[in-house]
Amino acid sequence: MENKVITVTSPLLPSLDDFIPYLQDIWNRKWLTNNGHYHQELEKALCEYLKVPYISLFTNGTLPLMCALQALRITGEVITTPYSFVATTHSLWWNGIKPVFVDIDPDTCNIDPDKIEAAITPKTTAIMPVHVYGKPCDTERIQEIADKYGLKVIYDAAHAFGVEINGRSILNAGDMSTLSFHATKVYNTIEGGALICHDEKIKRRIDYLKNFGFAGETEIVAPGINGKVDEIRAAYGLLNLKQVDSAIEARRQTAIKYRKVLKDVEGISFMEDMPGVRHNYSYFPIFVDTEKYGMTRDELYFKMKEQNVLGRRYFYPLISEFSTYRGLESAKLENLLVSHKVADSVICLPMYHTLSEEEINRVIKCIVDE
Ligand SMILES: *Cc1c(COP(=O)(O)O)cnc(C)c1O
Repeated sequence: MENKVITVTSPLLPSLDDFIPYLQDIWNRKWLTNNGHYHQELEKALCEYLKVPYISLFTNGTLPLMCALQALRITGEVITTPYSFVATTHSLWWNGIKPVFVDIDPDTCNIDPDKIEAAITPKTTAIMPVHVYGKPCDTERIQEIADKYGLKVIYDAAHAFGVEINGRSILNAGDMSTLSFHATKVYNTIEGGALICHDEKIKRRIDYLKNFGFAGETEIVAPGINGKVDEIRAAYGLLNLKQVDSAIEARRQTAIKYRKVLKDVEGISFMEDMPGVRHNYSYFPIFVDTEKYGMTRDELYFKMKEQNVLGRRYFYPLISEFSTYRGLESAKLENLLVSHKVADSVICLPMYHTLSEEEINRVIKCIVDE
């Protein structure tokens, strides 16, 4: 038992007994996709839960990024962060947009607002920040810059499901925000995602875009794509929504236990909660200071692995290091010193709602024991 593998994440699953009646109903209705009954129910339920005015469901978290850029007709250059999952930058590439990387703030791991203005050129049309680990970006500063230069802001909020500041959703910041409901995220529909906007007309356009551009039986108004969610995933999503609060609370308890022990470990740092923020505890990153800790990040990562404790070096390597992007001027090391430092020191510890006390202690033991 001692050596059972502890994975970095584990999906939130609805009970099969609860799911079967939904399946029965879907079989009876014989309406499987294209804005069906459960699709509509889930959009309504998510608007309410997330405190957002309009949401469009998608089959994953990458398509809403691509469709947001299409809906807002973004072209030229977009300012973004190298410290994210590749899908953020890939969405730009698929739209023929040049990504311009800006370094991050070491305290939040989010794009550093102080460095955005220097990266703006006449070709810049938008900023695409990421709420990394669900920690809110400085949305006010970013909006000020966007307003000053007439730029759009699209947040990749894939990590930020349910995150609020003073009771208000951070998903309402900027022009649009995108979510991922992938199996590894806090809330999942197996594969899935969503695009959040503030305007009924834009919501309609997004819904055209995710259905090939169909605006009626014979009318195509845009070169759309297929991002439509089926009834089975929508029903699954409705059930998972009912238990996401208790899952987040279980994650919070785990974070408290990790912090309690790790605060006394020389050379290991982690993120604290921010005042007024409802966090979702989607990840628990630690940062290894090689000199103070006496071991490199990779040494610790592989030591954990030997003991069947699977962390994840997330985000490493930086997006700017991948072959598609490393030739860009903004991908140069000198431009991204903080991002490199963080990427070389991070390990995300196992974090999920069913992590047991014993498992938490095994994770901690790997880090604390010499
Ligand atoms: C998961 C994730 C995505 C992509 O979501 P998929 O649902 O896997 O397509 C995009 N951006 C970030 C930051 C993510 O973590």
